[in-house]
Amino acid sequence: MRLLIVEDNEELAGLLAKGLKAAGYESDILSTVAEADSVLDTTFYAALILDLGLPDGDGLALLREVRSRNNPIPVLVLTARGGLNDRVQGLRSGADDYLVKPFALEELVARLEAQLRRPGQLLGNSLRIANLEFDTRNRQASIDDQPQALSAREIAVLELLMRSKGRVVSKKQVEDHLFGHSGEVGSNAIEVYVHRLRKQLSERGARVQVHTIRGVGYLIAEQT
Ligand code: CA
Repeated sequence: MRLLIVEDNEELAGLLAKGLKAAGYESDILSTVAEADSVLDTTFYAALILDLGLPDGDGLALLREVRSRNNPIPVLVLTARGGLNDRVQGLRSGADDYLVKPFALEELVARLEAQLRRPGQLLGNSLRIANLEFDTRNRQASIDDQPQALSAREIAVLELLMRSKGRVVSKKQVEDHLFGHSGEVGSNAIEVYVHRLRKQLSERGARVQVHTIRGVGYLIAEQT
């Protein structure tokens, strides 16, 4: 799972990335609202760790922008501002949780994991494309409201694609999602899982298509 840290304090960002890595999460670090805005528009991250005081603007503005695009990414806000007003404003802007600096890394990881365990809450519990629905509570896929039995790997790939609806998921992200970043994976293993999922969906009449975007990754969309 890959996380995005948006924090302009290099030292803190580095410590966070290191601590998260020790807990099993890869992360990318960005330091401005502008960079984060454009990257979040095109790249799937499992969660966003967001500082509020950034050199080119307020993290809350970024958060509102992200939510206005219906991006359901879990967001954990980091801030030095501990006042109640800021906290309320942060949550109103679409933050899922809030940590006031300084905080213990263990607490950050615990809060993050709580968010990752209950994803999809902003869009309700169900993700839908055409006649394909994915319930994030019980990780059940349905086609025309009929529950489908899929393998654990197929479900995992489908969930990642559905959560990233409208955005391209890289092969590496699929790999991290299925095997963690430590796993040794055969070079065409991901293609095999995507191929199997595509076949299952097509045979069962889902009106969706899993596109391969050569050299970039995969994208699920309504069949045209
Ligand atoms: Ca800052």
